Amino acid sequence: MAWVCQICNGMASYVVKCSDCGEQMEARGAIQDYFDDYSPYLSRDITKKADGVEHNRCVHLFYCVGCASDKRVTINEILM
Ligand SMILES: [Zn+2]
Ligand SMILES: [Zn+2]
Repeated sequence: MAWVCQICNGMASYVVKCSDCGEQMEARGAIQDYFDDYSPYLSRDITKKADGVEHNRCVHLFYCVGCASDKRVTINEILM
């Protein structure tokens, strides 16, 4: 048994609408994959979560092409 993120494993897709313009946001992957680019901008709190302090959560980055903003969405992992 292990905690699995369904989005990371391609078992489910997650649709997020931009709260500013209503455009469907593009999934850009788990935040861990972007650590090299984003870590300077992350708050200490988010960095701690992404480091796996809570093992049943996976933080994903979504990007809006409509207004070029991005958003972090916390995905609950499932036990498999
Ligand atoms: Zn994930
Ligand atoms: Zn937008």
